[in-house]
Amino acid sequence: MNAADDKTIVKDYFNSTGFDRWKRIYGDGEVNKVQLDIRNGHQQTVDKVINLLSSDATLPDISVCDAGCGVGSLSIPLAEMGAKVFASDISEAMVGEGKERALKLFGNNDNPTFAVQDLEGLTGKYHTVVCLDVLIHYPQDKAAEMISHLCSLSESRIILSFAPKTCALSLLKKIGSFFPGASKATRAYLHKEKDIVKFLQENGFTVGRNEMTKTRFYFSRLLEATRK
Ligand code: SAM
Repeated sequence: MNAADDKTIVKDYFNSTGFDRWKRIYGDGEVNKVQLDIRNGHQQTVDKVINLLSSDATLPDISVCDAGCGVGSLSIPLAEMGAKVFASDISEAMVGEGKERALKLFGNNDNPTFAVQDLEGLTGKYHTVVCLDVLIHYPQDKAAEMISHLCSLSESRIILSFAPKTCALSLLKKIGSFFPGASKATRAYLHKEKDIVKFLQENGFTVGRNEMTKTRFYFSRLLEATRK
């Protein structure tokens, strides 16, 4: 399968069965045990990013690009805390849900601003670029290009999370829970931490904080890197 096919499959998935599934996981309604575990794990990652950003910077002073924002799980609380957030995702359905959630909360859609856009099409400059749990959709050769592009958008800091390759066996065993039923066609790519660190360094960034979040069904390593 080539990268273009991968991207179309991912986009279609997050506009259909994947949308229904992840909207529920990233919501607060009733879900099954596996989904609840993933929801809790993902929330830990989001909380870590919020703590990290708010401990280092005055949020109203910074702009944040949330690349592959999903339904706005990070963008919305960051905007609520005053950061200027640009949120984008390849899936129109995910972006639509994010917009609705933001509208309910803030009564307008000025911040975050949402756009349907794939990562490669992003332009502009932001104090911080964040990309959470999106690398699972990128094979290694595409991951290098993708990280390089995100680095080019960042003036100061980049924050990435990904499913680490060391957990490969346990993750692969559970992959049916990540992508059940028909959506199993969606491939999941794990990445070696040392590769991601290397890609960041090659683009002029130094890795600072590094944290693992692990629940039964959710594995995600979070790396923060700043410009040298
Ligand atoms: N980052 C969000 C979060 O942590 O709440 C969403 C994570 S979700 C597992 C992965 C998201 O990545 C989906 O919303 C999907 O549509 C998006 N995505 C996948 N490939 C993408 C691409 N090439 N460009 C933009 N978004 C992409």
